[in-house]
Amino acid sequence: MQDISAIFPLLAAPRKVVITMHQKPDGDAMGSTLGLYHFLIQLGHEVNVISPTNWASFLNWMPGCGLVLDYDRDSAAGNVLIQNADWIFCLDFNTLSRTKRMCEALDAAPGQRILIDHHREPQEEKFAYGISDTNKSSTCEMVYDLIMASGHAAKLNASAAQCLYAGVMTDTGSFRFPGTSANVHRMVAALKEAGLNHTPIHEALFDNFSENRLRFIGNVLLNRMEVFYEYNTALIAIPQADLIKYDIKTGDTEGLVNYPLSIEGIKLAAIIIDRGEERKCSFRSKGDFDVNTFARKYFNGGGHFNAAGGATTDPLDKAVKDFKAAMEANSEQLSTYTF
Ligand code: 5GP
Ligand code: MN
Repeated sequence: MQDISAIFPLLAAPRKVVITMHQKPDGDAMGSTLGLYHFLIQLGHEVNVISPTNWASFLNWMPGCGLVLDYDRDSAAGNVLIQNADWIFCLDFNTLSRTKRMCEALDAAPGQRILIDHHREPQEEKFAYGISDTNKSSTCEMVYDLIMASGHAAKLNASAAQCLYAGVMTDTGSFRFPGTSANVHRMVAALKEAGLNHTPIHEALFDNFSENRLRFIGNVLLNRMEVFYEYNTALIAIPQADLIKYDIKTGDTEGLVNYPLSIEGIKLAAIIIDRGEERKCSFRSKGDFDVNTFARKYFNGGGHFNAAGGATTDPLDKAVKDFKAAMEANSEQLSTYTF
């Protein structure tokens, strides 16, 4: 994988470009891909953004979101775009398997894949160019850096700014996680100086849910959360029946895993959701507990040091049992509480 800067001299010649992201994209995945889209179209490239799956409706306000192709809904059109692309930018993921059903088409694409990502252990051999930096707060910060370094900084317009702000804000937990560097604050300052209005973005992302979702959260906190004080750990396990009862949509469960971390002393929070086809897990930690390794070892997943995910095809009760066993196996690290 050559350094991403090797493409800077090539940006001037228009190309057929696909930009893609991980399945069930979050604010950073959608924000970074659309931020890059708004930049590249101004340089004359023919750009298509593809999401492997659908996404949460609270992302629909992002400029350009209406143009994003949902591969699950129209894989034939997606395959044509992928097959014909000169460049395929892969943003906010680093293993092709994170694109689920799109993985095969991506792997077989004749064009060059370009990685921009901040997760651990990238599949470097799959990318012609790229940048992988786990110290970065978000892929949006990396796209911002790329635009600044590309020689075309003036092309960062209001649409790109809104998308990039949304991703850096959500991936830093509203600027509180350790990855929130001085560079992040400088980026936001520059976006503000360029005229960004941030309040409507927070409202669009956080104040746009259904009454059902709030009542669902009430039920989850009351009936679906177990706290294991001796391990400084809390687990939420959600049966599929709850999702049906409260009419829970993609994105409605995002952020739920963070709630237990507001309990004093909790160091590891986990959520296992029965999504029917699989049991999807999310892990969050504070301080020195590495959930990337935990997710890789026990739940076929990965991610960051303090935020990771995974999945299993086992039934929910088995997944819960396995989680408890994994927690017990890590008791030494979990029971000592150090920041
Ligand atoms: P979330 O829990 O919000 O879905 O994801 C937390 C972090 O872990 C994200 O950075 C996400 O990309 C990563 N992640 C989530 N699920 C998986 C998974 O199944 N496999 C891998 N490798 N990473 C995941
Ligand atoms: Mn991200």
